Amino acid sequence: MTRKIAFYGKGGIGKSTTQQNTAAAMAYFHGKKVFIHGCDPKADCTRLVLGGVPQTTIMDTLRELGEEAVTTENVVNTGFGGIKCVESGGPEPGVGCAGRGVITAINLMEDLGAYSEDLDFVHFDVLGDVVCGGFAMPIREGKAQEVYIVASGEMMATYAANNICKGLLKYAEQSGVRLGGIICNSRKVDNELEMMEEFVSALGTQLIHFVPRDNIVQKAEFNKKTVVEYDPECNQALEYGELAKKILENDMFVIPKPLSMDQLEKMVARYGLMD
Ligand code: ADP
Ligand code: MG
Repeated sequence: MTRKIAFYGKGGIGKSTTQQNTAAAMAYFHGKKVFIHGCDPKADCTRLVLGGVPQTTIMDTLRELGEEAVTTENVVNTGFGGIKCVESGGPEPGVGCAGRGVITAINLMEDLGAYSEDLDFVHFDVLGDVVCGGFAMPIREGKAQEVYIVASGEMMATYAANNICKGLLKYAEQSGVRLGGIICNSRKVDNELEMMEEFVSALGTQLIHFVPRDNIVQKAEFNKKTVVEYDPECNQALEYGELAKKILENDMFVIPKPLSMDQLEKMVARYGLMD
């Protein structure tokens, strides 16, 4: 059975980094077959797995060459660990709706049978905003069954995570989508772990892993690689291996209980002001 999972979170929080390193760890440490579908118009969700080679996106191909040109041969590339990669891409800047592109791209991949039965995981890497219908698509129509939210102890990251939970709550009944946990991608803010633990327990979910902040992530990025490929023996690679293992073994899937704005602000302030 292919598990289809979506990674959500505020822009810049480290979704694509975490998602690609998790995919690389699943392949490298756990022998899993992974397919990444990037759903960010920036088309940078698969860059580290593909060694920095720019991808021809689905939307570019569709616009420039027409629908017949959108074949798995043309738009799917294979990178580190045999990971298959595709990017939705987006409309021309200032023209059209990027969310609409996500819907079109996922439907095209389904029609082409790209999410094949032999895969262990399909990752959707989705830009942080579920306010727009297009980006909610993976969770709205049951395209993904599990969601992991990448967050940190910063106010705006928890705000975004809470908003994504509101979106999940809205669609969970009809689509069957569930929250598999929060991944804390540390920003080294004060009392971060303690705050995240309170946050996940209020949401009724789990902190599936606390990923440390480490400069080797940038070093690997300059080398156009995931940390797992760049230095599989380093501590950060093992952290991603651990996160991958926890996702593999996860059996806690919930419909989250989002916090009120007031609760959220008080929680963040309480930890921020603590010594
Ligand atoms: P998003 O996909 O959420 O927009 P990215 O994955 O592109 O965010 O990450 C933004 C930046 O943060 C990248 O330059 C990346 O190298 C850095 N980053 C992400 N996670 C970590 C980490 N654990 N330690 C250090 N730097 C990180
Ligand atoms: Mg990204």
